[in-house]
Amino acid sequence: MRMYDIIEKKRDNKVLSKEEIEFFIMEYVNDRVPDYQASALLMAIYLNGMEDDELYYLTKAMAGSAGILDLSMLKEDGSIIVDKHSTGGVGDKVTLLVLPIVAALGVKVVKMSGRGLGYTGGTADKLESIKGYNLFKPLDEAIKQTEDIGVCLISQSSEIALADKKLYALRDVTATVSSIPLIASSIMSKKLAAGVDKIVLDVTVGSGAFMQDLESARVLAKTMVDIGKRAGKETKAIITSMDQPLGKSVGNVVEIKEAISFLLSDESTLDLYENKELKEVVFEVAAQMVKMAGLGDNIEKNKLEIMKVITSRKAYNKFIELISAQGGHIHKVYMDWLNLDLNMPVLLDEIKYMKEIYADKNGSIISIDSKKIGEALVALGGSRNTKEDKIDYAVGFEFSKKVGSNVKKGDVILTVFYNDKQKFKDAFEYITDAIHIDKIEQAMSNLLKSKPVILDIVS
Ligand code: URA
Repeated sequence: MRMYDIIEKKRDNKVLSKEEIEFFIMEYVNDRVPDYQASALLMAIYLNGMEDDELYYLTKAMAGSAGILDLSMLKEDGSIIVDKHSTGGVGDKVTLLVLPIVAALGVKVVKMSGRGLGYTGGTADKLESIKGYNLFKPLDEAIKQTEDIGVCLISQSSEIALADKKLYALRDVTATVSSIPLIASSIMSKKLAAGVDKIVLDVTVGSGAFMQDLESARVLAKTMVDIGKRAGKETKAIITSMDQPLGKSVGNVVEIKEAISFLLSDESTLDLYENKELKEVVFEVAAQMVKMAGLGDNIEKNKLEIMKVITSRKAYNKFIELISAQGGHIHKVYMDWLNLDLNMPVLLDEIKYMKEIYADKNGSIISIDSKKIGEALVALGGSRNTKEDKIDYAVGFEFSKKVGSNVKKGDVILTVFYNDKQKFKDAFEYITDAIHIDKIEQAMSNLLKSKPVILDIVS
C-alpha cells in the first residue's frame, strides 16, 4: 500500500477501505508518513467528506493508535464513567467548571482535553497557565488519581490518542479544522480511547464555533452520536450558542480566574446577566452527566444539586484538589469579599499593560463577534499561529458588557491585558471590528438578552 494512492483516491472523492485508513493512521503515528502527505489527505477529506463507514474506521483506528484506558478498576463499585467534550469555542471554560462540579456530586471523570485550535481556546492551554500543572500524568497514575479524588484532567500524549495529538496540531495550521468528519473523528477517538461508558457532547454553533449554523451543528451532533452508538456508548449532544464569547473572559489566565470566581459564587451572582449563558451551559452539561452516570434521573433536580455543590464550595474544593493532584501550585490568598483565606492556584499572570475599550456611542450592544475576539487573542499572542508557537498565558480580555447591554458613550465594554504594544495594535483592529453598537428599542435589547443558549439536544 502507498500513501500516494490513498491521497489520490480521496482527492478523487472515492471511498477509502478500512485497511487503507488503518494503514494511514499506523504509518503516520510511527512517523513513516510525513506531515505533508498527511496534510494532503486531511485536505482531501476536508473537501470531499467521508461516508459513515469510512468515518467509523477512521475514528476506531485513531482511538487504537496508542493505548486504550482500562477503567475497570474505577467501575468495580458499579460506577458508570461519563465523559464530556466540547467542539470548541471562544471563552469556553465549561470543562474547568463541569469537572469539579460533577466530581463533587460523585461522578467519576477521566478527561482528555486538547490545546487551542485556530481561534478557539483549549482547556489544556488554560490549565498550563497554572504553575506546575502536569497535563501528561502517566495513565496508571491518572486512573489512580480518579480513584482517589474522583477526577483527572490530562491531554492526548504518545500514550493515548496519539493519532489525534498529531493530526490535531497539523489541522490547526493547515486550515482543515472545521470539517465534520475531522472534528467527529478527533473527538470521538479520544472518547473511545478513554474507555468511558457514556459521553456528553457540547456542540457549539455561531461565529466563534466551527459550525456556523444550526443545521451543520445538528449534522455534526448526529454524526458523533451515531459513532458513539455504533461503538456501544450512550452519547448525547447538547447544541449551544457561541455567537458571542461564552462568559466574561477570553484568554488562558483570565478564564481560569473566571472559573474560580464562578465556583465561588452564590445564587444571586450566578443569576447575574453576565453569568447567564455560562451558567446555563455548565448546569445543562453537568446535569446530563449526573443523569447518565445514574446518579439523578431528573435534570431539574440535578441542577438544584449543582447549585448546592457550588454554593457550599464543595465544587471549588474539588477544583483545588484536582489542580494540586496534578502538580499545580497552590497558595493561600486573603479574599476580602469573602473575608477568609482561600487556597488558590498560582497563575502565570505576569502582565505589563491593561487598556479599557470604551463604547464610541450610546445604544445597545447588538453583537460581539466571537471569531474576531478569538483572532484578537491570537494577535495578542494568547493562542497559536503555528504549532511551534509559544503562547503568552497572561494576555486576554475581560468583558464588562455583553450582547443586549445598554451602553453610553465612554462606558467600558472590555479590558485588554497585554504584554506587547505592537501586538495590542494588531489585536485592536479585530476588537473594534467585533463589537457592534446601535440604537434599538428596549424590547429588542431585552430580546437579545434572553436569546436561548441551549439550542437543541440530539441523542
Ligand atoms: N475538539 C477536538 O477535540 N477536536 C476537534 O477537531 C475540534 C474540537
